Amino acid sequence: MGRIRTGILGATGTVGQRLIALLEHHPQFAVTALAASDRSEGKRYAEACSWRLPGTMPATVGALVVQAPRPPLDCDIVLSSLPSDIAGSIELDFARAGYPVISNSAAHRMEDTVPLLLPEVNPEHLALLESDGRKREPGFIVTNPNCSTIMIALALAPLAARFGIEAVVVSTMQALSGAGYPGVASLDITDNVLPFIANEEEKIARETRKILGRWNGNRIEPAPFLVSAQCHRVNVMDGHLAAVRVKLRSPAELTELEDAFTSFRGLPQQLGLPSAPEHPIVVRAEPDRPQPRLDRDAGGGMSVTVGRIARDEVLGHRFVALSHNTIRGAAGAAILNAELLAARGYIAPSRP
Ligand code: NAP
Repeated sequence: MGRIRTGILGATGTVGQRLIALLEHHPQFAVTALAASDRSEGKRYAEACSWRLPGTMPATVGALVVQAPRPPLDCDIVLSSLPSDIAGSIELDFARAGYPVISNSAAHRMEDTVPLLLPEVNPEHLALLESDGRKREPGFIVTNPNCSTIMIALALAPLAARFGIEAVVVSTMQALSGAGYPGVASLDITDNVLPFIANEEEKIARETRKILGRWNGNRIEPAPFLVSAQCHRVNVMDGHLAAVRVKLRSPAELTELEDAFTSFRGLPQQLGLPSAPEHPIVVRAEPDRPQPRLDRDAGGGMSVTVGRIARDEVLGHRFVALSHNTIRGAAGAAILNAELLAARGYIAPSRP
């Protein structure tokens, strides 16, 4: 079977470059179209893009001409990494023109009819793409969660399943690449921590509940616990870290928590999807792990690393989670979503 021809919106940006790098040797997807702003439109990608990842830009992609983010594009599906303030109407235009849209942006995440997909956790939410048991054809939007929310929800999923959750309090320390390019001014972040990331705390609170929510055959019922988040920008290139305190519904020994994390597997692992890490959650026993520099690349950047599992005097249990924000938190998440959509027959090459 031929590969699925893939267009990337926001192709020159931080997430767009990751998408291109991760798709270079992908067995199912081939990049055939690129779009970005009018600053880049009409230029070859090699001219339009300052490549900021290690290694060189894939030559085949460098030769493509960057287009406006408007249908039609020469592709079967669209991966969107557009800024959220402009993504909403553009992604809708593509979906209405018949393209499956797999989006990193926040624009459509909380809409009732849009899956907020984390394949290990809530693949059943893809039922939102069906009506009366039949696949809605052919254009649709599927979103991946916010970069911090992905690791928080992934780490909470096995605890919710095994013990139940009553409340979550989380403090994040988030990397600079999470702000895109050029991101935070160096004079603001050097020798400093910024205790504000616009809309981030609200996204973690509401997206976590949607992801861990229940498909009741009709709609997603948000998970019945509250999440309180405080977010900080720190002087780290890649890798978001979250200190999590959780109140569980039933008693749990620390060894049971550790077992819930390490034994956790999901549909991507069962199906052997190409981007699925063997271990979605890696537990580190050392007292000073996880650390962004040492742990962000676990599982090719697709595993969440958990450590510091301990009792908490206030909420009962605590741990620290870390993941690569532009891989598991963005580009890798979108690609894993696309792989699940292909495995479930929602997307396919137009020229088999
Ligand atoms: P970025 O580095 O600022 O890149 C933005 C991209 O969008 C560039 O390709 C840019 O093209 C294009 N763009 C900007 N304005 C445009 C316009 N008016 N019309 C068309 N294209 C336009 O941002 P990013 O970090 O990659 O983030 C992209 C999206 O992913 C955002 O919605 C963000 O919230 C989300 N996200 C990011 C992360 C992360 O860790 N960075 C994680 C999860 C989700 P030009 O080069 O032509 O300007």
